Amino acid sequence: MLNWSTEPPPTAGLPLTWHDFLPQSSSLEQDLAKFLCSAESQIECSGTAAIMVALAALKVTSLRRSIVIPAYTCPFVPLAILRCGLIPILCDTRSNHFDFCPDALVKVCGEDTLAIMPTHLGGRLADLKMATIIAKKVGAYVLEDAAQALGARYQGQLAGTIGDIGCYSLGVGKGLTIYGGGAIVARDANMRQQLQNTAKEIVPIQFKWEARRLLELIGYFALYRPIGLGLAFGISLRRKLKQGKLIEAVGDDCSANFPLHRVGHWRKGIGARALKRLPDFIALTRGQAKKRKDQLAKVIGISVMDDAAGDEGTWPYFLVLMPSEQVRDKVLSELWCAGLGVGRLFIHALPDYAFLDLAQPDTPNARDFAARTLTISNSPWLDNQDFMKICTVLEHAVA
Ligand SMILES: *Cc1c(COP(=O)(O)O)cnc(C)c1O
Repeated sequence: MLNWSTEPPPTAGLPLTWHDFLPQSSSLEQDLAKFLCSAESQIECSGTAAIMVALAALKVTSLRRSIVIPAYTCPFVPLAILRCGLIPILCDTRSNHFDFCPDALVKVCGEDTLAIMPTHLGGRLADLKMATIIAKKVGAYVLEDAAQALGARYQGQLAGTIGDIGCYSLGVGKGLTIYGGGAIVARDANMRQQLQNTAKEIVPIQFKWEARRLLELIGYFALYRPIGLGLAFGISLRRKLKQGKLIEAVGDDCSANFPLHRVGHWRKGIGARALKRLPDFIALTRGQAKKRKDQLAKVIGISVMDDAAGDEGTWPYFLVLMPSEQVRDKVLSELWCAGLGVGRLFIHALPDYAFLDLAQPDTPNARDFAARTLTISNSPWLDNQDFMKICTVLEHAVA
């Protein structure tokens, strides 16, 4: 049966308007560079592709082969590392967090470390100072994974522009989207040239993929509204949950064979138009988050991931840490299927994805974080009444 009831998306994505599709002259590369206060930006077909191009560019500068990533991150990241012929090294997170545990980071870094990838999740910022100090000590690059942090500020500076290279996702659910897209910035001019050369070498033109993404983007424009999301997203989500396919439900079912192709002019233009509205959208969602964060803080026993002093993140959703896995799952059994924008981020810590098959030491903090977190959408389409419903369920669950 079709469900025509309204439903907020799991994250606050920027909606498109039909004006975005009109031909125009602005350049996404230039406008995004301006937005990021950077000299240039490079557009790729996904955040994963952006990371892959960045890694391939770094690979030619060195004989080192290890890339250090947090053990709780998007499973596409180790796949991108492997596809470059590099070695993903998992580092445990600090307790109750997604960011690197400093002691664990020191232990896993060494002579073979080509790059360390501090990762900002859900608009919250990783500790770049710590990662940079450790990277410098072993002579490794810092590659910021800012896939979920376009527009977030770490100590006043834009996430992604602080490390040697920064990668962003313009995928669905990551704020600004061109359906499948990614971006790269780099501080050093030689590095930028190297990134351009690498892309020319390894990224082919594939009209079929570009046509498919353009159609998907049109579909997104048509359905990314409260009434469309039940249809486009909710029905398939509930089907997957019913079948117990959690990994598929959150889109963690990654393939090593992810597409790699150049992004077409039209789609970039759509992104450039939409980008003009991004600052206002970030301000709007930040304002809403401020109020709702205070509401969530009243629920004793849960904690909402927040910014450290001096940081100002973006707020696509709230990343909520529950007191135990049981309580988390109890809440999800009531809310995940309820069409209220409650769900989960990555299902597992990386060692626990069977399809990744990463033989690594245990990463207990990352596993615990994966087991106890849930997400609450910060879409403007989640109204106050529904948000309060969520708070009530949380209160009852922890009581
Ligand atoms: C989504 C995501 C990626 C990959 O971006 P895509 O555009 O989906 O390929 C990489 N890292 C993190 C942390 C992400 O959330």
